[in-house]
Amino acid sequence: MLAYIGLGSNLKDPKAQIKRALASLSNNDGAKLINVSSFYESKPLLEIPGPNYLNAVCKIETKLSAIDLLDLCQEIEESQQRVREVKWGSRTIDLDILLYGEQVISNKRLSIPHPEAINRAFVLVPLFEIEPSIKFPLLGSIKDLLERIDKLDVNKL
Ligand code: ATP
Ligand code: CA
Ligand code: CA
Repeated sequence: MLAYIGLGSNLKDPKAQIKRALASLSNNDGAKLINVSSFYESKPLLEIPGPNYLNAVCKIETKLSAIDLLDLCQEIEESQQRVREVKWGSRTIDLDILLYGEQVISNKRLSIPHPEAINRAFVLVPLFEIEPSIKFPLLGSIKDLLERIDKLDVNKL
């Protein structure tokens, strides 16, 4: 299965955090890293105080089920000492499963496509960079989705 994962960090050397998470993904037997976007800088959501974020999107090929992939993402977050304090607060690393093949999944632990992906320039811009012709199940082409949003607050490094 092909899947896309969004990565974000704004604490403790964000560039190293994202590189470490990418290395963990590619070192896992269940996943193969196929492509990684450039790194982008973005401002915290809703003007929540804190350092700017570094974001990227990667494409993987995986044998894992969607829920096992979520477990892997959360293990990587834990291994990088992610602490959850306030919703959308600063974090060492965040791994969101954006797309899992063309599947639509909605249960207690998992919503795919990631429900906020289509509203976030820091997700759509790097995803477009590596997969300009991708379609979101039910939601349409990334090109059309990108036209609806403000892209001013995300800068390619
Ligand atoms: P947001 O989801 O708005 O980007 P966040 O990434 O800060 O916010 P987290 O605290 O990282 O939110 O995750 C909260 C929960 O979201 C996780 O425990 C997980 O079960 C759930 N979740 C639902 N869908 C997904 C998905 N597609 N990818 C990752 N986590 C998901
Ligand atoms: Ca997130
Ligand atoms: Ca998350």
